[in-house]
Amino acid sequence: MRRALYPGSFDPITYGHLDILRRARRLFDELVVAVVENPRKTSLFTADERRKLVEAALREEKIPKVRVVSYSGLLVDCARELGAVAVVRGLRATSDFDYEFQFALTNRDLDSEIESVFLMTAGQHSFLSSSLVKEIGQYGGDVSKFVPACVAKSLKAKFGTKKKPKEAR
Ligand code: ADP
Repeated sequence: MRRALYPGSFDPITYGHLDILRRARRLFDELVVAVVENPRKTSLFTADERRKLVEAALREEKIPKVRVVSYSGLLVDCARELGAVAVVRGLRATSDFDYEFQFALTNRDLDSEIESVFLMTAGQHSFLSSSLVKEIGQYGGDVSKFVPACVAKSLKAKFGTKKKPKEAR
């Protein structure tokens, strides 16, 4: 039984993440999504909200049998605890490469048994990021092309309670 871990901030989950997730499911017997709790990184959604949104998106997209966990601390420790043989990461453009290369080599230094696997996203998601979605959502734009309806709804609720940026004069 080959289990893989797909870690990330997922702040919030997008169709790009879901694309990688679907591809990874075909390669491994079991996939676990790990939502990172990083106190140094400011996120729009809390770790709990992000985990629940991943679960809701999986239900909405009818993707069964994917476990979702939250983790803080070292990724390799989380992978070991869950019995994962690989860490899955998505690549959009060459700009992702430097960071991912460093991340993979560091993880290999920490635990040489856990392999990093990189999957290339579909062309239409190659410019899609959670940051972009948040920026569009903040100004009340339509994010339905980028995220499932449950995420769009949560973004609306989040920004509805936040102060709108001042109008330019
Ligand atoms: P992190 O903060 O760990 O980079 P993200 O949630 O931003 O967390 O990303 C998690 C993983 O998903 C990363 O490997 C990232 O490259 C990948 N990813 C993010 N957006 C996309 C996308 N549009 N297409 C494919 N992979 C993506």
